[in-house]
Amino acid sequence: MKTLGLIGGMSWESTAEYYRLINQGVRDANGPMASAQLLVWSFNFADIAALQTAGDWDTLTALMVGAALKLEAAGADALMICTNTMHKCAPAIEAKAAIRLIHIADPTGAAIADKGLTRVGLLGTRFTMEQDFYTRRLAERFGLDVVVPDEPDRALVHAIIYDELVAGRIEPNSRETYRGVMQRMADRGAQAIVLGCTEIMLLVGAGDSPVPLFDTTALHAQAGIALALS
Ligand code: GLU
Repeated sequence: MKTLGLIGGMSWESTAEYYRLINQGVRDANGPMASAQLLVWSFNFADIAALQTAGDWDTLTALMVGAALKLEAAGADALMICTNTMHKCAPAIEAKAAIRLIHIADPTGAAIADKGLTRVGLLGTRFTMEQDFYTRRLAERFGLDVVVPDEPDRALVHAIIYDELVAGRIEPNSRETYRGVMQRMADRGAQAIVLGCTEIMLLVGAGDSPVPLFDTTALHAQAGIALALS
């Protein structure tokens, strides 16, 4: 079995899900005693969030590349960044690390394209919704037309991630807010919604959306499982 290096702690709420999902997938494939070979570098998310707010992407990139190289040196066969947002630093990691980075947008885009869908709504942090490092990859590699929420919906979606989900707070009112945002994207022609932040699956599920959901945490974990077992 191959060893996965997880760049996590962003937040640990979702890294815990990755840990559970990847171990469960290896157990399903290889039997009840089997578990995944994992190395986890877990950041203090308070530091990461402060740097994001300050717009200090040079320091963030240096931190992500540093974590990737430590995991590689420790024996990882492949890397996963356990957050959509920090894939902004993916090109720098791909340039510096010798081992493969499993990019979160790739299994997500492939799963959507497999269903023959072309227009998708995207929920995530402001960075993921408003910058092009993520939407461009979905468009260029998978031919997807990506719809993002209007303001003030983007502000609400972003605030709920940072004020609640990364802090382990799951609020029914916020679930209602997300339901409304997803409905409005479906009304604008989104055939599906990408849960493009790894904590959103803690808040909403299939029953909350009028269109199918593509959960990046689960899809990314599945890609990791496939590589570990390959
Ligand atoms: N986990 C989140 C994501 O998937 C947000 C936290 C972060 O900024 O990394 O984007």
